[in-house]
Amino acid sequence: MFITTYPVSSEGGSSSFQNNVPDPVTSGAELPTFKFELEKSEGRVDGGSFGKEATVVQLPISKGIAGVSMRLEPGVMREMHWHATAAEWGFVTEGLVRTTVIDPAGHSETNDFGPGDLWYFPRGHGHVIETLGDKPCHFLLVFDNGYFSEFGTFSISDWISLVDKNTLAKNFGVPASTFDNFPKKEVYFAKGKTPAVPAPAPLQGWKTPPLTHKYSLLSQDPFEVFEGGKEWRVDGSQFPISTTMTGVVLEMEPGALRTLHWHPNAAEWQYVLGGQFEVTLFGSKGRFRKEALNQGDVAYMPQGFGHSIENTGGETGRILIVFNSGHYQTIDLTQWIAGQSRDILATNFGVDASVFDKFPKKDVFMTK
Ligand code: MN
Ligand code: MN
Repeated sequence: MFITTYPVSSEGGSSSFQNNVPDPVTSGAELPTFKFELEKSEGRVDGGSFGKEATVVQLPISKGIAGVSMRLEPGVMREMHWHATAAEWGFVTEGLVRTTVIDPAGHSETNDFGPGDLWYFPRGHGHVIETLGDKPCHFLLVFDNGYFSEFGTFSISDWISLVDKNTLAKNFGVPASTFDNFPKKEVYFAKGKTPAVPAPAPLQGWKTPPLTHKYSLLSQDPFEVFEGGKEWRVDGSQFPISTTMTGVVLEMEPGALRTLHWHPNAAEWQYVLGGQFEVTLFGSKGRFRKEALNQGDVAYMPQGFGHSIENTGGETGRILIVFNSGHYQTIDLTQWIAGQSRDILATNFGVDASVFDKFPKKDVFMTK
């Protein structure tokens, strides 16, 4: 996506004024931090349920992508709502989750999810998220707009509470008194009984959409296996509804390195599922920064910026990576060098051409 003038973060690419006006956040003498300790933040808490978010407020560099860590207790529902400014990509890490989403054609789909499963809701499509069963659930929500706030979503109880009861009566064809006991403000986390299994039919009966909102990622074989680790990946080619986002889980052994690379078409949002990592970011003009990431920490790589990920802990670790494009692209430095002649490389680096005889002749995505 090549948008050159709009200062809008939600069109799938980075939010900066590309080409013309430098983004003040990333154009200073030094790179700003690209790390936020999401799970150490407080967020919005209601009993044992919480939502913690990383937006441009918490992590100013993250203009293209926002993220939320959400835990719901049994019987708790993240109430019916939509997002005006972002699509939602959700990844379950713990427990069981049910979602129901409606599209503009009136289709609604209900899906049940376990750890390693994910969903995609196009921007503006109404949805509800429930804990299934008698254990809490935890999931990550990733949005293709860093200015998006989970706490500024459009909730159904908020709206209904503000509309005159006579208007509601006319709207739904029921007596105005029907709404006497409805909430007087936004509910956000609604509490009730544990959802039935299998899911009860909607009022209109089942009327499912042509494209599913659910994808099971980690129950499948890895997309690729490397020296030092594995990669699971899903973009729009496997999961057609996910037109604006791609997800990856990297599993890396101690010492493994996701080699130096950049993404021409997308910004990257990272969340450490487990383990310890060092992430480096190259920002041009002599600017370079390293951050140590632990479980529950988030990092953000602006579109086109060079970066690498190394497992610096003693255990195999996993990192969740989400891109704000439904089409995955990477250029790895190993591949770039393999695509040059020895003469170009010798002149560029001012060393003897024979130095490059020992370099890889093909892409090295991960190594250790
Ligand atoms: Mn949502
Ligand atoms: Mn990357």
